[in-house]
Amino acid sequence: MTSLVDPFSRSIDYLRLAVTDRCNLRCVYCMPPEGVPHLRHEDILTYEEIVRFLRISVQAGINKIRLTGGEPLVRKDLDHLVREISSMRQDVDISLTTNGILLAQQAEKLAAAGLKRVNVSIDSLDPATYRRITRTGTLEQALEGVEAALEVGLDPVKINVVVLEQLCDELEGFVNLIYRLPVHVRFIEYMSPCGVFDSSYYVSAEEVKNRLAGYGDLTSAQPPVGAGPARYFSLPGARGMMGFISPVSSHFCPECNRLRLTADGKMKPCLFSQDEDDVREILRNSQDDAPVLEAIRLSLSKKPRDHGGFKVQSSRKMSQIGG
Ligand code: SAM
Ligand code: SF4
Repeated sequence: MTSLVDPFSRSIDYLRLAVTDRCNLRCVYCMPPEGVPHLRHEDILTYEEIVRFLRISVQAGINKIRLTGGEPLVRKDLDHLVREISSMRQDVDISLTTNGILLAQQAEKLAAAGLKRVNVSIDSLDPATYRRITRTGTLEQALEGVEAALEVGLDPVKINVVVLEQLCDELEGFVNLIYRLPVHVRFIEYMSPCGVFDSSYYVSAEEVKNRLAGYGDLTSAQPPVGAGPARYFSLPGARGMMGFISPVSSHFCPECNRLRLTADGKMKPCLFSQDEDDVREILRNSQDDAPVLEAIRLSLSKKPRDHGGFKVQSSRKMSQIGG
């Protein structure tokens, strides 16, 4: 199989694809209350364009594709896209990051279309705090999404929790969750360059881990499929694990294996890079795959060694890149 290697000899086999910039929530750390200006409908890649881009990427060496957004489940017929991707090649790992609000309605058809696993973002298990963080969300709906994902056999199901100020007082709820359900909870450090808070809100994943140790013997554990940069720990007798993702306190750039494509067809070599290479116009103006591949290689060639300590303020917010 061919492979993509960046200038720092890292193998790049993972693509994060934002299928939309729209979202049904307004999380306080991700966007302002009024949301962010939407892309024009005609500027968003069609499914046909996405599928063509992915086919070329998979031939070039991408074998993990994560659908994200905005909120990917607000895009109509996402299962059609999943089906197209899963028919490309058996060994392509397709995953989804969602806020879970629409997951209960869609889990069954997504699994039938070939989705293997899912990450659901739930930052608090207290309904009022969840509503305060998401501004519009209902915790019950997100949790129904998690249950539906488990019922249809998506595996693993991971819960993404951005570490915010109140979390340290709410850890018991997440501990109880991994005893009750076979889900893995992952605490993610808040990244201010793509967010809308100032960095005084930052709490490190290490601090969360130290506090969790109060609930039992945290033992370093074998990560589940698609662990990426997370470090995992088990608690005695729990059905799921606790994971910690520390992009701020101990960045994982040396192991970076990813490229990103925004909903409007811009390739980004790094979440924090200002570089964007347009593939949309190439996809629209040429039937030849060679220039598309060239654009992928160009973005690859611009992958920085690291994000430079988050000195750069990203020009796009997380919902516009895909996290
Ligand atoms: N809407 C989907 C969701 O919330 O899961 C997918 C898109 S969201 C941008 C992807 C992930 O990025 C989510 O887990 C979200 O919590 C996380 N995220 C958003 N803004 C962040 C920030 N400033 N720092 C850390 N994580 C962030
Ligand atoms: Fe929407 Fe996800 Fe951003 Fe929350 S984190 S506002 S759910 S895109």
